[in-house]
Amino acid sequence: MKRNVVTFTYILRDPAGRVLDTSAGGPPVTYLEGAGQIIDGLDEQLRGVAAGTKLRVEVPAAKAYGDRDPGQVRRLKRAQIPVEGPLNAGDQFQTDTDRHAPVVTVVAVEGDEVTLDANHPLAGVDLTFEVEVVAVRAATEEELHHGHAHGADGTEHCH
Ligand code: ZN
Repeated sequence: MKRNVVTFTYILRDPAGRVLDTSAGGPPVTYLEGAGQIIDGLDEQLRGVAAGTKLRVEVPAAKAYGDRDPGQVRRLKRAQIPVEGPLNAGDQFQTDTDRHAPVVTVVAVEGDEVTLDANHPLAGVDLTFEVEVVAVRAATEEELHHGHAHGADGTEHCH
């Protein structure tokens, strides 16, 4: 199957209409279709959309960041948590120094016990994207081989 590299801008809203994220103020997003570079539900619904198209894409939580898993909420002793300084409800930190490490959220601090939620902050949230497709082109052999896009024009070096 022929696969494309798609470049788009977006505004992401939750069901209450609050803006959760946007590409405005930064470069548009470029991805290789079907490569897991963007959430599945968005990838699927942008197939075959021509450059210049504006559309609204609704992605249920299950096809975005997944449903919330109550098993990901845990109580730990404060001393077990590798974070210095005060911890407060709402704080978020990464479980490792790797920049792709999961983010956990502090739900509550009670005495020396801390409740942490390792669900993705957008787990369980149905998402609405307002998308403008900026460009669509065929993926290069190299991009197909690597499994990701090499920038909007296909010449960007990858890490
Ligand atoms: Zn590459």
